[in-house]
Amino acid sequence: MCSPSTYAICCPEHARLEDEYLQARDRMRSLMRLGKLTGVSCFAAAKDQELRRLADQVAMAIARLKEHTAAHGCER
Ligand SMILES: [Zn+2]
Repeated sequence: MCSPSTYAICCPEHARLEDEYLQARDRMRSLMRLGKLTGVSCFAAAKDQELRRLADQVAMAIARLKEHTAAHGCER
């Protein structure tokens, strides 16, 4: 069922971690776009905080994905 070349697709944990990373990255991107459109100053502080949180999330997701790939040997 799981040939080496398609192993990552068969690995639900790898797919979940990748999804987590992509979602955080997409949220960060849309938030950056949103900020440019509105330019409201009271919103900017909250946006900065949220951006930092999302940047952390993206970095953590990348680290977890790398860790998992190294430990599990499943690579896309
Ligand atoms: Zn895996």
